[in-house]
Amino acid sequence: EESVPTLLAEAARQWPGKAAVQETGDGVSLTWAELDNAAHALAHALLDAGIERGDRVALRLPTSAAFAVSLFGALRAGAVVVPISPQAPVAELNGLLEHSGARLVLEREATEELFDGVISLSPPIAPNGASEPVEAAGAGEDIAVISYTSGTTGPPRGVMLSHRALLANLDQLSRIVPTPLVHGDRVLITIPLFHVYGLGPGLLQTTSVGATAILSERFLAERTLADCAEYRVTSIAGVPTMYAEFAAMDPEELGAGLSTVRRMTSGAAPLHPKILTALRGATGLDVYEGYGLTECAPVVTTTLVTGYPKPGSVGRPLPGVEVRLVDSDGDATPVPQDPDELGDAFDEDGGTGLVSIRGANLFSGYWPDGSHGPGEDGWFRTGDVGYLDTDGDLHLVDRANDLIIVNGFNVYPHEVENVISMLDEVVEAGVVGVVDERTGEAVKAVVVPAPGVSLSEQQVVEHCAEHLAGYKVPHTVEFAESLPHSATGKLRRLRLR
Ligand code: ATP
Repeated sequence: EESVPTLLAEAARQWPGKAAVQETGDGVSLTWAELDNAAHALAHALLDAGIERGDRVALRLPTSAAFAVSLFGALRAGAVVVPISPQAPVAELNGLLEHSGARLVLEREATEELFDGVISLSPPIAPNGASEPVEAAGAGEDIAVISYTSGTTGPPRGVMLSHRALLANLDQLSRIVPTPLVHGDRVLITIPLFHVYGLGPGLLQTTSVGATAILSERFLAERTLADCAEYRVTSIAGVPTMYAEFAAMDPEELGAGLSTVRRMTSGAAPLHPKILTALRGATGLDVYEGYGLTECAPVVTTTLVTGYPKPGSVGRPLPGVEVRLVDSDGDATPVPQDPDELGDAFDEDGGTGLVSIRGANLFSGYWPDGSHGPGEDGWFRTGDVGYLDTDGDLHLVDRANDLIIVNGFNVYPHEVENVISMLDEVVEAGVVGVVDERTGEAVKAVVVPAPGVSLSEQQVVEHCAEHLAGYKVPHTVEFAESLPHSATGKLRRLRLR
């Protein structure tokens, strides 16, 4: 049976001397053989520390070579990896350690503030001498990773991802025809590896083709752009907040910085069409938007499948992933698989449904009891609402839970946010429902204006009235310097509310 560490063994066998992970700045750089060796050394250290098959080992590490060593090393020891944000406050860290039952934490510097009895270890990044290989202990249906969702909608849940699920998603990604990731790519990853987007399509996909991961702990527009040039980055795994910052830069500077880049992907949150257009204008480059969920290990659809980025669309299902929209009558409409196949013509108002997903990439339920996994029929029902456009491409409307009901009419906040963000004067908008005596709920917008511009509540309202039905137009508009985001740039509407 296949296991995630097999990817590393295979890369080390085929391309031992090639750069595997390279940290920007004065950071560490490891070849595939060195990474492989370090992962074996760590596996030994974990076995010596008493880690047994199925034990949970937490990774409290930034996007770094140490994360890659720790991931593969812990999996080789047969452990279940629990990635945790290094920025998480101690109380949250201890909460996740307790919930996952972790026995050991891998971190940069060993600490003492940890939950009772949990061992802290710092991974050996460059061991002296060759380490005896450790045969990977987990495979197939064994759980490889427990990934805690970002908690934008409620308390965090531990998503159990098996070796099978993670490998299946890599296989599905590898079957993308027009613009796949290839061996020669140098992939910039500044997004967190503790989130499944950085982990799967980022680090593991890079490993599966033996490309090179250029790793940086954080995205800083100017610095990151300079890194793209210095490390000759060809592919960027990013999130909308990053691309928004790039789009706000001087077009010439941006074009020069991204001159070696051929492929940019965005996921985790909606990418506003104006950013896609601005980047294309400045650099001639397209951003391919994808849709994923931790529960799907994670990629479900992407515009890479059709090969043409379409503003506002998340594209088509990956080969091997089935997606359908289930409407309020229970009728299911499949999202077409074949890029050339047209869907039933739907319009935005008539054809929405809840997104359901089936495929070998699905999770094994939530930790610890495996509850709420895919149903008997294999389908996983997400909380996302979507519709198909007349080409058969998928668009996401919003999360069903975020629905605002005004006088009995449905308002999805994302639609209103999108319209407000069309204004040049607007950096970002967040929309929530507030209690209203007359209408039940009312639409409230919080708007971040671009630096130095003047923008009034009335301008926002008038712009919305031009593009939206009356009941969707914000009742109140408030201005703010910034909005709350998760580590992958998701708007935290719960916190905003
Ligand atoms: P929690 O459920 O605790 O709030 P989370 O849902 O943010 O956590 P993730 O697995 O990180 O956990 O996020 C998956 C969700 O992100 C999807 O269900 C969808 O709502 C949203 N999402 C992902 N990609 C996109 C995209 N391209 N456009 C819009 N939304 C997206």
